[in-house]
Amino acid sequence: MRLQDKVAVITGAASGIGLEIARTFAREGAKIVIADLNQAGADAAAASLDPSGERALGVAMNVTDEAQVDDGMARAVAAFGRIDILVSNAGIQTVAPVEQFAFDKWKQLLSIHLDGAFLTTRAALRTMYKQGSGSIIYMGSVHSKEASALKAPYVTAKHGLIGLAKVVAKEGAAHGVRANVVCPGFVRTPLVEKQIPEQAKELGISEEDVVKKVMLKETVDGEFTTVEDVAQAALFFASFESNALTGQSLVVSHGWFMQ
Ligand code: NAD
Repeated sequence: MRLQDKVAVITGAASGIGLEIARTFAREGAKIVIADLNQAGADAAAASLDPSGERALGVAMNVTDEAQVDDGMARAVAAFGRIDILVSNAGIQTVAPVEQFAFDKWKQLLSIHLDGAFLTTRAALRTMYKQGSGSIIYMGSVHSKEASALKAPYVTAKHGLIGLAKVVAKEGAAHGVRANVVCPGFVRTPLVEKQIPEQAKELGISEEDVVKKVMLKETVDGEFTTVEDVAQAALFFASFESNALTGQSLVVSHGWFMQ
């Protein structure tokens, strides 16, 4: 097992990509803290991994709330004694053209993706620095490297995560902490299912065309990336055995973006 008795905190892990990362890390022997908006959702996901509660804990955490983040991370340490891995994954999507984008929606998206990454990183580092080790993984996107119409705050935030990861890689090195970014293409989670009708309306095309001509147009094979694909990339970063792999980003997108 590649993560035997490591402790992983995963935000936004009640659903989609975060939940699959939690399942994958648990299969590899990790103890899992599911951090998500409400306690019931976090508890249900944690119970699906380990009904006994010995190796999985649900914590209610709005990642934009400083007190909730610090409290949730403290609960993780109280339960399992350490934090080896943070996956900063919680996120939302809102689509609209820039000139029509509501300021409150812009701020909400940036706050969840960027304030959330900062607050959870800061709390995790305080524990990881004491341990002298840790791995932080940010959930970026092809939109950390590329732009799409209608997604101004999302593209801005996802590009920003690469900058944060590089700073954390530099500062964390002396403490044995690595930071990296996984950059998936489109994955059919609730976040994407919601966008299909929204983009069809904004662009005046059918939902089928949103999938074929917008979302998957640039892939090499017209395929969605899966939650399992993304979880394997996260596992690669989490289980890497030396501090050589840091400050990097890995695109998993059926060739939509090549570098
Ligand atoms: P999802 O909607 O299935 O899951 C997102 C989770 O985040 C939910 O459980 C939600 O409750 C939680 N969340 C939202 N706001 C939160 C907050 N303020 N505090 C704590 N939790 C919060 O979406 P997903 O597709 O699994 O997305 C997960 C991450 O992957 C996001 O960062 C997203 O940007 C990124 N991503 C998704 C895709 C894709 O195509 N689905 C592609 C690239 C990157």
